[in-house]
Amino acid sequence: MLEDKDFIKSCDVPGPTKEAIRAIIIYKSGVTSDDKVVDCGCGTGGITCEFSQRAREVIAIDTNPEAIEMTSKNLEKFGLKDNVTLINDNGANALKDIDDVDIAIVGGSGRELENILDIVHEKLNSKGRIIITAILVDTKVEAINKLKDLGYNPKIMEVNVSNGRVLDRGIMMISENPIAIITAKKR
Ligand code: SAH
Repeated sequence: MLEDKDFIKSCDVPGPTKEAIRAIIIYKSGVTSDDKVVDCGCGTGGITCEFSQRAREVIAIDTNPEAIEMTSKNLEKFGLKDNVTLINDNGANALKDIDDVDIAIVGGSGRELENILDIVHEKLNSKGRIIITAILVDTKVEAINKLKDLGYNPKIMEVNVSNGRVLDRGIMMISENPIAIITAKKR
């Protein structure tokens, strides 16, 4: 796994998704070197960079041009640009031109999660997997309900990670914000 501290960051772009969360996402996705992955809402490129190392192809999408720039810089920093296409557009729009997706990650959707999930569902192949990361309770509920409507059997895992900071007097545990990882497979 790449380390959080090695990513180039910007105060205008959220991310990277923390290392422990990226590790769970990679594990849950079951990614192989044959897979075509879409990262909708790529932010700083945390997830894009991890999948770029393991998948055949990654398409990273973000509405924010600065996010695309940050993802591009991080890919370059880690020497990973070859198998990644960057698209500066709304996820729902960009997905219209993409087919035969093995893994769709939705890390950002604005107020368009339902719309994006409709299109993701259409574009996933028969082995397709969806992974949504959600911080807001409302997004978690919306994601689960929409996946159920689309005929999936969604799973949700709430992850609370704390990292130790070693002080003179002992070790202080500092918590990261809780995040849900919602997963579903075509069936
Ligand atoms: N996983 C990323 C962080 C994602 S933050 C990382 O590791 O760095 C969420 C991102 O989703 C933001 O950059 C935001 O601009 C983007 N976003 C929000 N709504 C979107 C939409 N409808 N389509 C594409 N990107 C979107």
